[in-house]
Amino acid sequence: MGLEEDHQGPTDALTGFSAGPRLWLRIGQSATLPAVREERRELDELERRVVARIAQREHDLVELLQTLIGFDTVTHSPGAPPRDEARLQRYLAERLAARGAEVTVEEPDVALIADHPLVPDEFSFAGRPQLVARFASVGGGRTLLLNGHVDVVDVHPRGEWSSDPFDAVVSDGAVWGRGACDMKGGVASMVMAAEVLAELGVRLTGDLLVNTVTEEESTGAGGLVSARTLRADAAIVPEPSSLDVAVACRGSLLVAITLEGRPGHAGTPPRHPDAGGAVSAIDKAAYLLEALRRLRDEWALRPRHLYLPAADCVTTRISGGEWIVSYPARCRLECHIEYLPSPGGGDPAPVVRREFEDWIARAAGADNWLRAHPPLVEWTQGCVPPAEISIEEPVVRTLIGVQRALRRPGRVGGFDNWHDGAWLILEGGIPTVAFGPRALSVAHTIDERVPIADLVGCAQGIAVTAMRFCGVR
Ligand SMILES: [Zn+2]
Repeated sequence: MGLEEDHQGPTDALTGFSAGPRLWLRIGQSATLPAVREERRELDELERRVVARIAQREHDLVELLQTLIGFDTVTHSPGAPPRDEARLQRYLAERLAARGAEVTVEEPDVALIADHPLVPDEFSFAGRPQLVARFASVGGGRTLLLNGHVDVVDVHPRGEWSSDPFDAVVSDGAVWGRGACDMKGGVASMVMAAEVLAELGVRLTGDLLVNTVTEEESTGAGGLVSARTLRADAAIVPEPSSLDVAVACRGSLLVAITLEGRPGHAGTPPRHPDAGGAVSAIDKAAYLLEALRRLRDEWALRPRHLYLPAADCVTTRISGGEWIVSYPARCRLECHIEYLPSPGGGDPAPVVRREFEDWIARAAGADNWLRAHPPLVEWTQGCVPPAEISIEEPVVRTLIGVQRALRRPGRVGGFDNWHDGAWLILEGGIPTVAFGPRALSVAHTIDERVPIADLVGCAQGIAVTAMRFCGVR
């Protein structure tokens, strides 16, 4: 594989300009995915007991999830007071300590992460502590980290929910409520996996860490602290991956484009801009929206990443105009860009930014007004990097082998959107996969839900993977 930076893209039909140098994975067009050299092994006697015990405790697992959903942990927005984060973390701390874990629940020192561009000024963890529970091992094996976020997105419009989003109900074989899928379901499964290993007295030879964080849905600050303070040989983040083993996730960039017009009375007949006529900034935005649509087409047609959808750019907000009887003098477009990891590692954000800016500049260059009044492109805070690990990583091979021993598909996949695992990979150097119940398509929805069978399957997959990855005496 290599970066493809050596040829010019197709000539743009509208602007007449070339699309410029491309940067993409040279992975070929083949749809065949490389085979994972999974650890092939049937379940042994102890693993079968663990799997059976988790199945027996299905009711407890569902109750645990219902309890977690009952804590209002809608993610933090600047200046807002904490909600039930501390109560939730203390609840989990008591459960895990009762099973023998050494537990800390602390508000981290912001100095640990203050240098990071994603962390806003004045940020604080006040009232939103982070939990680390360590099940100490007999020694000699590898450490596995289980990480999940306990914050959730808001429930608006609350009136459209079929039931109270914070009072989870069980119906149609699923648990319904805010965070059921993203990702209190995954958190409940990982906690249950750790509890059952302790309950059955399984003596791991490597430590098992259970880590629950806040802020994933806002700044990513909680996961960033974990990445900078915890050491582990691998991590599993039970985000909703359809129980696929997700080895990659896309990153995202946020950008705003401001267009300038020339105000004038909307009731006057049109006059050429060169003769001083009014120019609508909204019309110019419409012109640029067409250029952005062609950029999406361009990205969609490039060679595909093995496990991730193509890069994309979605215009998420538009605002413009000052008065209903005037030509608009300003219009602003805001866009969310999803982009792919670089095969060479590192964050390719600068390359994506440059390509985006060049694309806008070329489109503007083909319009007389915009050539003289270039759109202002501003990158805004809240950008997060993509990440990827090799399918040869032991945690991938072990987890795929466990899934097959459990008679489940055991597929490698990608996670369309960013999650805290990217921090663990990029900032912590910890090979991390997402492996969790239900799918990202159900996350953040009204009537969010998670199938109970997925919760049980996730807990079983994590528990047996911990046994094989950490080792058992
Ligand atoms: Zn999530």
